[in-house]
Amino acid sequence: MSLPQFTLLRPRGLEEAMGWLVKYGENLRVLAGGTDLIPSMRQKLFEPEYVLDLRGVKEMRGIHPQPDGAVEIWALTTLSAIERSSYLREHFPVLTEAAATVASPVLRNMGTIGGNICLDTRCLWYNQSLTWRKGCGFCIKKDGDLCHVAPGGAKCWAVFSGDTPPALLCLNAEIEIAGPRGKRRLPLQEFYTGDGISYRKLLPNELVTRVFLPTESANYRGIYRKLRVRGSIDYPLAGVAVAMKRSNGHVADARIAMTAVNPAPVLVRAAGEMLIGKAIDEALAEAAGDIAARSAKPLTTSALTPEYRREMIRVFTKRAVLAAASN
Ligand SMILES: Cc1cc2nc3c(=O)[nH]c(=O)nc-3n(C[C@H](O)[C@H](O)[C@H](O)COP(=O)(O)OP(=O)(O)OC[C@H]3O[C@@H](n4cnc5c(N)ncnc54)[C@H](O)[C@@H]3O)c2cc1C
Ligand code: SF4
Repeated sequence: MSLPQFTLLRPRGLEEAMGWLVKYGENLRVLAGGTDLIPSMRQKLFEPEYVLDLRGVKEMRGIHPQPDGAVEIWALTTLSAIERSSYLREHFPVLTEAAATVASPVLRNMGTIGGNICLDTRCLWYNQSLTWRKGCGFCIKKDGDLCHVAPGGAKCWAVFSGDTPPALLCLNAEIEIAGPRGKRRLPLQEFYTGDGISYRKLLPNELVTRVFLPTESANYRGIYRKLRVRGSIDYPLAGVAVAMKRSNGHVADARIAMTAVNPAPVLVRAAGEMLIGKAIDEALAEAAGDIAARSAKPLTTSALTPEYRREMIRVFTKRAVLAAASN
């Protein structure tokens, strides 16, 4: 599958990048590591006139611990750099665990945290070649007017399939977005819409520039569990992140989030809150798993059955809660 024709823009700094973005917004796609964008362009899911290749913008890379224990991560930081950061591994382990499961080592060397956050939603009827999609009459997400997954409705249920966003939700992470009117900062949770088509609140002339991990989320225990067909490379088909703080054998705080079973990564507040103040045992971990499984809405968008994926959310949540509480 060949790439469509486009003009490559290679800014050397953030200011130059913003200039191109503001000028060509609607007709432009941002390339960070390109590990998702390039396959999608080959499948003609995106045919932009311009591609803004950010790889030369060195100021957009780096992990910067702050004196108060918070951390700033620039959007172009690779997943390998996150996985290998001893600081993040010690203080924000749920993030390094999740980053280490993305794709394969080669793809993590290219893929960035910003690209992982902005990742397009996925569906068996969408991530296909133009010829394949044409043979099925296309679908609502691209060029058609029917959803093959939920034919009665007008909503797209394509699943958000990034591994690091559930970990970031457990850490109450915020992101910085730069646009023509300057910079704004918002909780990551508010970035996703829950719709498979316009899945993120990002205008075509905006860029995710930084991720912030707050001091208060430092030093939680962190666990990430992921279901995929090939353990060496695949996108998640269900994923659960748990961050937990304990005191005197009881849970002082707990957060649970999941991915790949809804059109957005989901923080399951009730599942984390029910653990607070209690000592973890099998029954309690199982009850948290039940709540998480009820919040999952897997459909036939992915390789494994919705029933199995929902069940694995239950199982992974239970296992991750027990692991986070173990000594
Ligand atoms: C075989 C294979 C397996 C994979 N497995 C996994 C997996 O297991 N888990 C997983 O999470 N991902 C997986 N991926 C997807 C991908 O490798 C990662 O999600 C990666 O983090 C994407 O980052 P990137 O920098 O390469 O993004 P890109 O491909 O460059 O961009 C992805 C999207 O985000 C937009 N974008 C990127 N950066 C920004 C920014 N700073 N601001 C605004 N928009 C931006 C791009 O325009 C594009 O729409 C897989 C990909 C492949 C090819
Ligand atoms: S969920 Fe429906 S509309 Fe969305 S990509 Fe899949 S088939 Fe298309």
